[in-house]
Amino acid sequence: MSIDRYCSLYLYTFVTEATAKPDGQKADSKPIICIEAGHQAKANLKLEPNAPGSKTMKAKVMGGTTGVQTKKPEYKLTLEVALKLEKALKDDYEVKMVRRTHDVNLSNSERAIFCNKAKADVMVRLHADGSDNAKVTGMTFFYPSLDNKYTKPISKKSMEVAEIVAQQVIKQTGAKSKGVKPRGDLTGFNWLKVPSVLIEMGFMTNKEEDVLMSKPEYQDKIVAGIKKGLDAYYKSK
Ligand SMILES: [Zn+2]
Repeated sequence: MSIDRYCSLYLYTFVTEATAKPDGQKADSKPIICIEAGHQAKANLKLEPNAPGSKTMKAKVMGGTTGVQTKKPEYKLTLEVALKLEKALKDDYEVKMVRRTHDVNLSNSERAIFCNKAKADVMVRLHADGSDNAKVTGMTFFYPSLDNKYTKPISKKSMEVAEIVAQQVIKQTGAKSKGVKPRGDLTGFNWLKVPSVLIEMGFMTNKEEDVLMSKPEYQDKIVAGIKKGLDAYYKSK
């Protein structure tokens, strides 16, 4: 670290503290959104508990699906959208990124713990779907289940966020909605202490939807929908 870098960091700390409210809260308290681009370049099939203290073991991080037409792996698509989402949110939210590169080794529990430590208000998880049936299309919005002791405390708020985000993303993209659904089996949800929505942005196993999801204009629509959804959620609070 250069001296310059050190000084700018020091100055930042100074300014932040100087503008802090007397109760210790930052004057500028934007909601914290933790963005997770699903998967990574190399799957890690070693096992980890699928919830804190659980004996059920699941792969640390799966490889994800691949575009049937674009041949693009899911981890690349999810990061493309994640980086756009970061840009779109950064003025109105404090954004934390689980990853910015493909060459990481982060298990699903580690991703959840990262967002817990960031004290995120919402974790937005980006994925794309795959199916044996090439005709299947549409977006699914998952939230942590109410019927699971691990995810129960974060379920209600997650569902509220998921519903409002789903509404806006579908409105912006015109995609078919496959619904807003609870999940109690995902390691990435079970380790969370903060609310979350996981967006399956479409099916990479459908030629048309695969191509569409890689189009920058379509990605912008997904991102605009997520932003509008979060804005609407925080406006209603
Ligand atoms: Zn995925």
